[in-house]
Amino acid sequence: MPEKNSFNLNLRNLFINTAKNFSDTEIVYRNKRRMTYSKFFQRVNGLAAGLKSIGVKEGDTVAVIDWDTDKYMEAYYAVPMMGAILHTVNIRYPPELIYYSMNHAEDKYVIVRDEFLPILEKNKQMFDFIKGWIVYNDDNGTVSTQMAPNYHYEDIVKNEKFEFPDLDENTTATIFYTSGTTGFPKGVTFTQRNLVMHTLALANGVQFSPINVGRSDNFMILVPMFHVHSWGIPYMGLLNGNKYVLPGRYEVGTILELLKNENIKFSAMVPSILYMVLSAPNLEEYREYLKGWRIIIGGAALPKGLAMKARSLGITAIGAYGLSETAPLLTIAMYNDSISRADDETKFNFSITTGIPVPMVNLKVVDQNMVDVPADAKTVGEIVVRSPWLTKGYFKDPQKTEELWKGGWLHTGDLAVIHPNGYISIVDREKDAVKSGGEFIPSLVLENALSEMKGVGEVAVIGKPHEKWGERPVAFIVKNEPIKESDVYEHLNKYVDVGRIQKWWVPDEIYFIDSIPKTSTGKSDKKELRKMLK
Ligand code: ADP
Repeated sequence: MPEKNSFNLNLRNLFINTAKNFSDTEIVYRNKRRMTYSKFFQRVNGLAAGLKSIGVKEGDTVAVIDWDTDKYMEAYYAVPMMGAILHTVNIRYPPELIYYSMNHAEDKYVIVRDEFLPILEKNKQMFDFIKGWIVYNDDNGTVSTQMAPNYHYEDIVKNEKFEFPDLDENTTATIFYTSGTTGFPKGVTFTQRNLVMHTLALANGVQFSPINVGRSDNFMILVPMFHVHSWGIPYMGLLNGNKYVLPGRYEVGTILELLKNENIKFSAMVPSILYMVLSAPNLEEYREYLKGWRIIIGGAALPKGLAMKARSLGITAIGAYGLSETAPLLTIAMYNDSISRADDETKFNFSITTGIPVPMVNLKVVDQNMVDVPADAKTVGEIVVRSPWLTKGYFKDPQKTEELWKGGWLHTGDLAVIHPNGYISIVDREKDAVKSGGEFIPSLVLENALSEMKGVGEVAVIGKPHEKWGERPVAFIVKNEPIKESDVYEHLNKYVDVGRIQKWWVPDEIYFIDSIPKTSTGKSDKKELRKMLK
């Protein structure tokens, strides 16, 4: 018998009323399939029963390898709610890292779309630790594979009547691996309680942000489901009863068609995806459907130039911040009292900053002695945080965990300033910071300034080794109109004149390139750019 008045913070309890309250609301997969929440939760129940019937037990890790699909969504619920651990495999990793992460996570069962089977089959002897493969294709047809034993997803889901247990809230619910932007991938785990608390804070954050997301706003999230639980939105969206559209593999044509046909009003993505959508050659045809589209941009700073382009099309894009280790949400560019009263331009300028912490995030910007830096928009420190949904640490890596949680605060490795009104602006990652003459040049501030120039599409600034200064900044620019190096210097010098950037921050070299190399999660790959420079 549970103790009187005790109530576990687990996903089963979080969604206890969802299927009933929003029984007719739809979950849509491309133009392929749609189902109501009531059907969805019935299938979630079926999937859990089916997984149990093939041997999945509480504590087992079940991997998923797919694009963003309805089946992935079912696994997001069924696997952790039955007490197993959901491993969202990064499908953008090279094959050796896919294998590494699955082996390191101790995966036991794998739910996989047929398209990804060939890379697994090539090395099938390496996967002898997997006890069962649950396979499907896009049309729910028969799939044959050398991976054994195997089961067909639709047969598994036919099972029903699974009684979801009332799990202890500290049960591990999910695991995934960091994208490896700044180092070798590390496994991070989250508990039932972490996910519940994160979902509630996120729901609060998006409703009260300037983008004001409400029940009637249809969702299409363009953050891969392997990337930090698609930022937790697959849980938040259903909790609030929003129509949820899954775009499969990200293709601009499909994204624009879904935007139009499903009347999408809310999305989230990294900046490069928004850039890709807004650069579509046939964007004009969709102009009327872009109006009123509201977007959270995270994972990297929202460049002002991109936000201005979005605004000119009637789209509202605002900034948010988090990391794999923090589930991810830490801040959203919500309006606090000081900004609510400000003029539109000031509001715009603050809506593209890193933002302010959401409820229950205790965030500080500190110097090396853990002392808060002054809120003067100038002094740079590291962001450290505490909150109920941060990872306990890296899976099977006590040393890295110790570094992450040094002094009882989670160290983000992000360098930031605090404005007098409490807003935070990240200026760089510790590992990307350009150190010149013993001082530090904020690459994100430079990128932002460059993004505002007409003709500049995407931009990335990195440090180049320099005999005298240690490092000097260089900029990589993707043009979308003919511009010359001298135009870029002219633009930057204007910013120097008004004091927005310092004279010695102006990059020594400017390279025009066709595209900025991207990490597995679509961010500028600065490691790769540094290699290119060499
Ligand atoms: P990776 O470190 O491989 O990029 P994550 O997805 O965990 O993987 O990325 C988290 C990092 O992304 C943060 O530590 C920060 O450097 C960067 N980031 C996330 N949101 C923002 C933002 N709004 N502004 C600037 N940087 C951001």
